[in-house]
Amino acid sequence: MIARRRLLAGAGLAVGGLGLAGWRALAAPAGEFVLSGRQCQGGWLRGLAPPGTRRLTLDGQVVAMAPDRAFLLAFDRDAAPGARLVAELGLGRELVQPLAIAPRHWAIEQIPLGPPPGAPPNPEFERRRAAERAAIEAARALDHGGEGWRQPFRWPVAGRLSGHFGAQRIYRGTPGSFHSGADVAAPAGTAILAPADGTVILAAREAFTLEGHLLMLDHGMGLNSALLHCSALLVDVGQKVRQGEVVARVGMSGRATGPHLHWSLKWHEARLDPELFAGA
Ligand SMILES: [Zn+2]
Repeated sequence: MIARRRLLAGAGLAVGGLGLAGWRALAAPAGEFVLSGRQCQGGWLRGLAPPGTRRLTLDGQVVAMAPDRAFLLAFDRDAAPGARLVAELGLGRELVQPLAIAPRHWAIEQIPLGPPPGAPPNPEFERRRAAERAAIEAARALDHGGEGWRQPFRWPVAGRLSGHFGAQRIYRGTPGSFHSGADVAAPAGTAILAPADGTVILAAREAFTLEGHLLMLDHGMGLNSALLHCSALLVDVGQKVRQGEVVARVGMSGRATGPHLHWSLKWHEARLDPELFAGA
């Protein structure tokens, strides 16, 4: 029970290699998972699958595994409190690792009014928006097999955090969409650095309606960054970038009230908290 308590206590704290009594019996000949990371909503785990693992699944979904058996998992902002990681070892044998995912307390603001009036229907906006969404989805489907996901991430811009991931307004009981990234306030023109190695998968030279000049980087293993509201994009689609390389400049293109960088991270469909990747 000690190990179990350690997992549950891992609310946003780093967890080291695990030795859970609960699955040791199942593990016997094949070894164990090695896991480390931030095991909470919006967080992530890097791991090493036991020797002999043929396939890895998380709640039934296949998880990619590198040739050295390393892998990445990440947990959506609204992830359930538990998940089941399974290594299939062949001959019907499997190693089951239950994961406790600590809930977070998001900044929720109750607004005693109805939602702000949306813009009146605008067919031109809807048409553009559909094309922009399609471009973002197509970019996110690209996987260049990079290794950036293995690195400790760094902040793309140093500055005051002006908006935290996960914050949400609720309008008289109706939730608005939550804040999907971390905002860093910085003067227009400030250099934006690649938070980790990656490949450019989208560079919106024509500003998108909401994101403005948007730059997206694939860090491999289904993990990607989106850097929003840029004033300039300094790299092109298909280009490989190194962690710390200047890739864009801060701006306020798209829907922004002042110059800042909005940095989003996604692992497949899971929306993640950049603060848990790059530190406070
Ligand atoms: Zn933002």
